[in-house]
Amino acid sequence: MQELTHYLDGGHVKGTSGRFADVMNPATGEVQAQVPLASSAEVDKAVQIAAAAQPAWAATNPQRRARVLMKFVDLLNRDMDKLAEALSREHGKTLPDAAGDVQRGLEVVEYCIGAPQMLKGEFTDSAGPGIDMYSMRQPLGVTAGITPFNFPAMIPMWMFAPAIACGNAFILKPSERDPSVPLMLAELMEEAGLPKGILQVVNGDKEAVDAILHHQVIQSIGFVGSTPIAEYIYATGCANGKRVQCFGGAKNHMIIMPDADMDQAADALVGAGYGAAGERCMAISVAVPVGDETADRLIEKLVPRIEKLKVGPYTAGNDVDYGPVVTAAAKANIERLVQSGVDQGAKLVVDGRDFKLQGYEDGFFVGPHLFDHVTKDMDIYKHEIFGPVLSTVRAQSYEEAIGLAMDHEYGNGTAIFTRDGDAARDFANRINIGMVGINVPIPVPLAYHTFGGWKKSVFGDLNQHGPDAFKFYTRTKTVTARWPSGIKEGGEFSIPVME
Ligand code: NAD
Repeated sequence: MQELTHYLDGGHVKGTSGRFADVMNPATGEVQAQVPLASSAEVDKAVQIAAAAQPAWAATNPQRRARVLMKFVDLLNRDMDKLAEALSREHGKTLPDAAGDVQRGLEVVEYCIGAPQMLKGEFTDSAGPGIDMYSMRQPLGVTAGITPFNFPAMIPMWMFAPAIACGNAFILKPSERDPSVPLMLAELMEEAGLPKGILQVVNGDKEAVDAILHHQVIQSIGFVGSTPIAEYIYATGCANGKRVQCFGGAKNHMIIMPDADMDQAADALVGAGYGAAGERCMAISVAVPVGDETADRLIEKLVPRIEKLKVGPYTAGNDVDYGPVVTAAAKANIERLVQSGVDQGAKLVVDGRDFKLQGYEDGFFVGPHLFDHVTKDMDIYKHEIFGPVLSTVRAQSYEEAIGLAMDHEYGNGTAIFTRDGDAARDFANRINIGMVGINVPIPVPLAYHTFGGWKKSVFGDLNQHGPDAFKFYTRTKTVTARWPSGIKEGGEFSIPVME
């Protein structure tokens, strides 16, 4: 059995806590590796190494720091297939989707190559007589990130690329479900020229997370994962005086207006609802057709598309639409919620409950499900399912449809499909959700914009990547300078004011 490691001080280090978690191959249901679960002493060791390495890195000029990221992009491209394969093997998503996971992280790394421009600061010449004023953006010191299983390449890169570009050291605590790619990324950063100790990977579970939350030296924590844990990390991290940003769960609605191109809407829903087995925080899990006639036309278009979906292991290459879900527990949770939908009176139009894949009977595959006539009080509507299950809630008007999305506790992403520019514009203006698609089902912003939801999908002020990342990973210091010639007249005793 392969025993995975931590990545500390520029090398792989065996776990010493004696605790391990199984890393599964979700397609076969087999345990393929064991990942060490760090003790608080191991976290402390990583923090000490980071704290010793960080000042020299902060003193390295931003252009040199950016060059490490430039080289890292080359290495990501060189190893793309290897990274995608390792990612699919532990996560279960298809190979093209795994390469997309790496690619969307890589794009944030590319953006962070612009760090010298982003860190330039501000300068006011002659803010007063003989006085100049300037603001600097300085690194925080040792920073940390805790990431989810569903994007084991992209989300770590969203955090460590800006953190490191800004001159911080970064400690990554990846998901214990798929830790291999984060370890590979740390190796590649070092190959790209990053000094030892600036990017370290500490594998673990709650014990490691709690050690991070309570460590005095750690200045900031980024978290992406489920909402209950996001709330816990935000509250505990803030109480311990850290800068914290947490991104949580989602229930993304797509509104289909009567004038929408129904084929386009159905294609979009199939990709956005079932891609990556629905294990995306930007997946569409609720379709809201406006009017019964729209709903009937939509369902008629959706059913044959869903029935044609190819579900299989990543080893089948491009011939698979989506793979297994990540664990047996995730599968059981999805099945429980599907049953609750049936019991609470929703109509199961496509029933994936008996799905079996020959040769992969022990894999965590879940067939596609489509519900119609879902209502607001049902568990399948209230809770994030994180599986290949699409719920249709019929609305009788545009106002009812937008109201549904606005009343839901989550506010990560949403979309409207329509040919009516006025409706689309009104929707984008009024909706209380962070990322909005207009005839685009998964509106994940590109690297130079920022990513973040509203309501219970986020805790904290600043979004991920884009300009916000440079704010999150730096502190502003403002200097007011007057040189000796300015005080030839003697001291000043009253507060200076502008005339
Ligand atoms: P999770 O909350 O179970 O785990 C996330 C991280 O928290 C992992 O590193 C895990 O080890 C750690 N963790 C788990 N339980 C903990 C505990 N009790 N105390 C401290 N740390 C703990 O999430 P997941 O299952 O890995 O990921 C899926 C979730 O992430 C979904 O809810 C999805 O919507 C969300 N997500 C959100 C975004 C976003 O940007 N909003 C992006 C991706 C995923």
